[in-house]
Amino acid sequence: ARRAQDATEVLAQSGVAAPAIRPAGRNKPFDYMIVGAGFAGSVLAERLTTQLGKRVLLIDKRPHIGGNAYDEKDAAGVLMHRYGPHIFHTNSDEVSGYLSQFTKWRPYEHRVLASVKGGLLVPMPINRTTLNTLYGVDLRTDDDAEAFLASRAEPVEKIRTSEDVVISKVGRELYETFFRGYTRKQWGMDPSELDKSVTARVPTRTNDDDRYFTDKFQAMPAEGYTRMFESMLDQPGLTIELGVEYEDAREEAVYDRLIFTGPVDEYFDHRYGKLPYRSLAFRHETLDQEWFQPVGTVNYPEEATPYTRISEYKHLTGQSARRTTITYEYPRADGDPYYPVPRPENQALYKRYEALALETANVHFVGRLATYRYYNMDQVVGQALATFRRIAEREGRTIVA
Ligand code: FAD
Repeated sequence: ARRAQDATEVLAQSGVAAPAIRPAGRNKPFDYMIVGAGFAGSVLAERLTTQLGKRVLLIDKRPHIGGNAYDEKDAAGVLMHRYGPHIFHTNSDEVSGYLSQFTKWRPYEHRVLASVKGGLLVPMPINRTTLNTLYGVDLRTDDDAEAFLASRAEPVEKIRTSEDVVISKVGRELYETFFRGYTRKQWGMDPSELDKSVTARVPTRTNDDDRYFTDKFQAMPAEGYTRMFESMLDQPGLTIELGVEYEDAREEAVYDRLIFTGPVDEYFDHRYGKLPYRSLAFRHETLDQEWFQPVGTVNYPEEATPYTRISEYKHLTGQSARRTTITYEYPRADGDPYYPVPRPENQALYKRYEALALETANVHFVGRLATYRYYNMDQVVGQALATFRRIAEREGRTIVA
């Protein structure tokens, strides 16, 4: 059953002592209703209330704030991510500066190893160490590694698919060791069926940098994502309702404008058909041992292993605990929408929904689901801040930073 909750109440239930907040009240009309309390919705809720003095109703169908970045302590007291490991990284000063108002940070550079050839652990993305370990060679410089990869690469006349990208860069053997099985599991399709843009995201290095990301800002919120969201959403004029579907709220709520961060095809009742997504099943396990693996994530590229990767949260969070919690990820077709399936016909279908969205007055479509793109967290924050600036400008308000 749905029930109105103001920000104080929601935050109090989450165990945080929230300062007294003046509830907006359910009878008053809202200037905005925001659907989705992930990064997109929460950034806009914070900005609209604090910078423009709007009265905002923020709803989410899930029983918690934070969207997919939600984290919580499990029964063993280990801080873990319910929707898979989330590592924050950005090159945007605007985004890191904005979020820093709501959290302190713990510096953290993510490292990933791949388990290949029956359990050998080598750095991912492929770097000089990967090549030296795998082939028992002694490549000492970038040039050595470059020449080695070039000697393996196979010319491909016209690069169309993901398979072409990888084979033309590193050759068939590395392709089969690291990419083929992983991609087949991740997407349920062979790399030869996937557009070249999919694998363009996976870089190969000739140095021995083994960090997964190279962004200038890499850190985790010191007390976790959920705490950061709580601090962001602890604002006068903001009402939060959890466990509420848009479909139900749209009939009751009194609001002038809507910000929608759910799936765009759902908003339009799947008029042109469903936008395809790839999903994941997560298996969370707490183990009676201090550590499970040497780094935050180990990838399992071999097709015979049903999961794609295992992540261990204590590496990310820096928490010390006697036990440890890990998450296995099993890609699958059905379930929550996680990754838009990167095929040209799906983009074409999205374009039709985008055209409808652009024609819809007084509704902003923001975030990964509403724009059918895989976005990292920082990109969604940037998108939400840009949307906010447009709203402020339309009202003749200039917002500095
Ligand atoms: P979401 O967080 O999905 O929020 C949307 C919210 O809307 C949800 O809470 C949903 O319940 C709600 N909603 C949807 N429809 C309705 C409705 N009809 N009614 C009411 N509520 C509704 N990014 C990184 O930067 N680093 C990472 O390491 C990283 N790891 C990831 C790992 C995985 C497995 C996945 C899937 C994603 C990862 N991401 C990562 C991406 C990150 O999750 C997204 O960028 C971010 O969550 C997007 O925020 P959002 O607000 O757009 O969407």
